[in-house]
Amino acid sequence: MSTIAFLGLGIMGSPMACHLARAGHDVVGYNRTPDKTRPLTEAGGRAASSIAEAVTGADVVCVMVPDSPDVQQVLAGEGGVFAHAAPGTLVIDFSSIRPDVTVALDEQARHRKLRLLDAPVSGGEAGARNATLSIMVGGSEADFAEAKPLFDTVGGTVVHVGPSGSGQTVKAANQLIVASNIQALSEAVVFLESYGVDTDAALEVLGGGLAGSKVLDQKRQNMLTRSFDPGFRIELHHKDMGIVTAAAREAGVVTPVGALVAQLMAAAKAAGDGGLDHSGLLRGVERLSGRTDR
Ligand code: NAP
Repeated sequence: MSTIAFLGLGIMGSPMACHLARAGHDVVGYNRTPDKTRPLTEAGGRAASSIAEAVTGADVVCVMVPDSPDVQQVLAGEGGVFAHAAPGTLVIDFSSIRPDVTVALDEQARHRKLRLLDAPVSGGEAGARNATLSIMVGGSEADFAEAKPLFDTVGGTVVHVGPSGSGQTVKAANQLIVASNIQALSEAVVFLESYGVDTDAALEVLGGGLAGSKVLDQKRQNMLTRSFDPGFRIELHHKDMGIVTAAAREAGVVTPVGALVAQLMAAAKAAGDGGLDHSGLLRGVERLSGRTDR
């Protein structure tokens, strides 16, 4: 069993830290807003009041915060992990951030004799709660092998995809696929409703054919009932579409559908929907179609 510092106890980090604590690890959680440590302490973990306190004595440090600047601050900022973790500590960044930022942080970590894995996840809040996340891991084979039991405690599909930054590249591809899928499903729902079709029945039969998907399974109720509590916020998916469009441009790869969906995600945020679940892309289709009366 390991001593694990878990930094960032939000929608995803909190249930992941709780699973690790329930599995018998000594989990010390830190969250910027302190009251979010309660689920972890109820699951048998401990709460720390600073990053320094959390990482002191930890074998493994897990991070789950929103964006690249947040990870830079938590790892390399003043009072951060790099300043306080003991040499040899394994740092696992579960956040979804820019691959180039991960590679730069990995260099800094090596200079301090720390080891960094990028391990972004997919599967949403349900995946975190049910410990069924897909985890795409970048970094060394040996560090991956060491961390695999921890990944298996929070995930269902855990794959080492290459050197540092590779996990983030795979996650960017994941977000391209998911956003395009949600947009297509949103358009189908608004289209079906415009014809007065029984949309519930329609989605049931569509779900059994080639149009079926995990997005359809997980998001159909949100769309049918217009319940867009997050889940995965549009503002976070907007961040991810920025990552994938920039990385594709850098590589000289053209992603026209991704570029369009990135614009639609930006429009949703600009319209004030940034705090909604990404299934709320449907509201953008309604706005474009002049059908906001529902
Ligand atoms: P969240 O609920 O907003 O949680 C983020 C956590 O990070 C909060 O506890 C927040 O603290 C903390 N935080 C934010 N900025 C910080 C900073 N600069 N320094 C220290 N702590 C900071 O977000 P989430 O949904 O868990 O997402 C976390 C990551 O997982 C993101 O990269 C996201 O893209 C990815 N992800 C999310 C989902 C999903 O379905 N939600 C699915 C897959 C991947 P406060 O409480 O003080 O704000």
